[in-house]
Formats: sequence, structure tokens, C-alpha cells
Amino acid sequence: MTVRTRFAPSPTGLLHIGNARAALFNFLYARHHGGKFLLRVEDTDRERSTQKAVDVLFDGLAWMGIESDEKPVFQSTRQARHAEVAHELLEKGLAYRCYCTADELKEMREKAMAEGRPPRYNGMWRDRDPSEAPANTPYTVRIKAPREGETIIHDLVQGDVRVANAEMDDMIILRADGTPVYQLAVVVDDHDMDITHVIRGDDHLTNTFRQAMIYRAMGWDLPHFAHLPLIHGPDGAKLSKRHGAQSVVEFREMGYLPEALNNYLLRLGWGHGDAEILSREEQIRLFDLDGVGRSPSRMDYAKLLHINGVWLRQADDERLTGDVMERLAAMEDVDTSDATRAKVLALMPGLKERAKTLVELADNAAFLGRSLPLSFDAKAEKQFTPENRAMLGRLAEALKAAEPFTRETVDATLRQFAETHEMKLGKVAQPLRAAVTGSTMSPGIDDTLVALGRDEVLARINAVAAHE
Ligand code: GLU
Repeated sequence: MTVRTRFAPSPTGLLHIGNARAALFNFLYARHHGGKFLLRVEDTDRERSTQKAVDVLFDGLAWMGIESDEKPVFQSTRQARHAEVAHELLEKGLAYRCYCTADELKEMREKAMAEGRPPRYNGMWRDRDPSEAPANTPYTVRIKAPREGETIIHDLVQGDVRVANAEMDDMIILRADGTPVYQLAVVVDDHDMDITHVIRGDDHLTNTFRQAMIYRAMGWDLPHFAHLPLIHGPDGAKLSKRHGAQSVVEFREMGYLPEALNNYLLRLGWGHGDAEILSREEQIRLFDLDGVGRSPSRMDYAKLLHINGVWLRQADDERLTGDVMERLAAMEDVDTSDATRAKVLALMPGLKERAKTLVELADNAAFLGRSLPLSFDAKAEKQFTPENRAMLGRLAEALKAAEPFTRETVDATLRQFAETHEMKLGKVAQPLRAAVTGSTMSPGIDDTLVALGRDEVLARINAVAAHE
């Protein structure tokens, strides 16, 4: 059997991290078993499924590096096929036409509730002779639910889950306007796409029992199911806006790397020993459904941030520079010419050690593209005492002579300067850093100066220095 999994999102305008995680698990499972991962867009709600909402999905998945192995299937294009299956069930006597009016259904519900029973369809048209059907009256098609026995789903995460068939009623599979319901569409599509494993959120578990009815009636094999526990907020409540970011786009804007979000979402609810930071190759090699936990996982934003920092430090300097330049372009006071780019790239090894997100990275790199006069943060301002301004004036003279202007010569110059003036190196470096970056935090001072270049360094120092 070749494993075939699928991710079947309904375009809602955002890619929720719970869905992104389901997509990732499906993708990894297929890759691990040498199978295929497919994408099906469940776009039958035509109002919500705008092109924009579909683009959000595709962009989010592409950013996460989760790509479908076959052309995506759009569920809305398959409605005729869904209806065909409903008619096949009608012909086989496994489904029937129901002519109940809205009032009759309402009455049925109220009666059941008054008698303390769950409000289910009572099978009114199930055994009635079709000749009793009212003429020219719209009808729905209902499937004949089994009345005895139980349905067992051998879930690969939850274990065996059972429901007594008496609990299920004859659900509608075709609406009065002839359109298929969601449960029918999902089953027909999964069958026709040869899906072997349905991996999805456990909020779909009740749907699975309903869908099982359709598989059985059609005589189709059920796929394997794996229902994933949902992601909760840090407090254990269902993840919601008040907990923080929830969609892939939000995390991307906040400066998370796709590798980090992937890595974090994978580890959320799946484990393999102590392994924490896993490359895509390792994920594929290690992922299987037996490592998926049964209880809901709690979103830990601090841990995600930490993991992002780890991935950021490992990321390629050119790539990070490209991202930072895009973010700098959105800042009004930062030059983003090639000259600035070269400075950012040169300083990237030091910059990426000190940032946990791309936003922070760009903020920390911005000084490289700012022009005089710089603005200084409060801590930097504090460095500009009269003594320090005088010291910076002398230091500018010394740095002028550093030739060539490299890490080594700059380092030697600063050390020599500190020694000559009987100062600790830090007492020289801090006012200098404040003068050239506008803040008291930056990568190593030598690297920072070299990245800026001698002329720029001297101009920045002289803007705050007092010359005797
Ligand atoms: N379209 C459904 C959703 O977005 C998923 C259906 C499924 O995975 O079976 O929740």
C-alpha cells in the first residue's frame, strides 16, 4: 500500500496553526512512508472561499515548505460526483428521499426534547412507500443509518473509539436544492483521491462516525484515521486571540522563521526522546503517528521564541540579510542601498547571535543604514558625559590612523588607546558603541566598526565628540 495523506482546509482567510500542524503531520507521515501528500481545498462555502482566502492558504503552506505532490483538488468542482454517489445509494435502497417540511422537523425536535431524548430525525420517510411521496415537492436524501450494533474506529492516535449505532440518525446527504453535504463530499473525495490515512484534528471525530456510514453503504474500505488532539492556550483553554498569535501569517510578520514554526509545531504533541531541534530530514526520518500524544498540547510562546532564536543563529547570513533588507525598507529613516546591504551582511554573524526574531534582527541592524544625525536611546544618551565626549574626540584621532581598517587593527587601536589612558576597555567601548549605533547594545565593537567603515565611524564619533 502506498501511503496517501491529505490536508483538506476550508479557506477561511487564515491558516490557523492547528491546521498548519495537521498539514505538517500529514506531509511528514507521507514522506516518512515514501508516500504522497495531497491538498484538497474544501471550498464549498462559496461566500467564504474567495480567491484571497485560497491564496492565504497556498502562501502559508508554501512558506512552511509544505507542498502538495499532486495538483490541488477543489471540492467545489466535484459536486456532480458527490450527487452521483447519493443517487447510487438511493438506487441501492441504502438512502431514501425525505419529504419532511421544516415544520415537521421542528415538531420532531421539540417532541424529542420534551421527552428527554436527543433531537434526532425519527426515520419518518425511511420505510414509507415512495408512492406516498407528495408530487412536485422538494426532498432531501437521507442515508439509512444502521440501527443496531456499534461502529468502531481504530484510531491511530486515540485507540479504539466506539459509538452505538442507535446514537446516529439518518443524516441528510443531499440537500433539497440537490447540493451535497460536507460529510458526503469529504468521503467521496477521500475515496476518489485514494487517501489511505486521514490525519486531522480530533474536533472531527464525531464526523468520522457519520462518514463511516457512507463508506460502509458504498462498500468502500475506510481509510486509517488519526485524530490529533487540539492545541490549547498556555492556560489550558481553547487557543484564542487573547492568548496571542494564532495564524501562520501573524508569526511570519512577527519575525519567525518557517523552520522554527515547523519545528515547534511538530514538537507540540509529538515527541521522539529528547530531540528538540530537528531538521526537515530528521523530522521525516523520525516522524510516525505512535509519537503523537493523546492529550491536548499547550501553546508555549516562550519556547517557540527560544526555538526561533536557535534557528536564527543557524540560518544562512545571505538569506537573513535579504529578509532584514525587506524589513528595513519599511522603515522610513533607513537607507537600503547596496552599501547598507553589504554592511548588514558583514555584521550578520554578530547580529544573529543577539536576536530571537527577524523583527528584532532588523531593529538591531537598522543603525547601519541610518544617516547623521543619529538618534540615541536613553542609555546611549547617558554615555555622553563631558569626559566621554572628550575621550571620543581623542579616540577619533587614534582610529583615523588604524590602517587598514580591519578587525585586527581596530582591536589593537582600542586596546592601545585604553592602555594609554589607563581605562578599562569597556569604558572606551560603551561610549563608542553609543556614538556609532545609537544604543548600548550591538555585536562586538570591532566588528561593528569594521562593518560601518572608517569614514562613517569617524563621522558618527565626531558628531558627539568634543575636540580639545
Ligand atoms: N475542511 C475541514 C476543516 O478545515 C477538514 C476536513 C477534514 O480534514 O476531513 O476543518
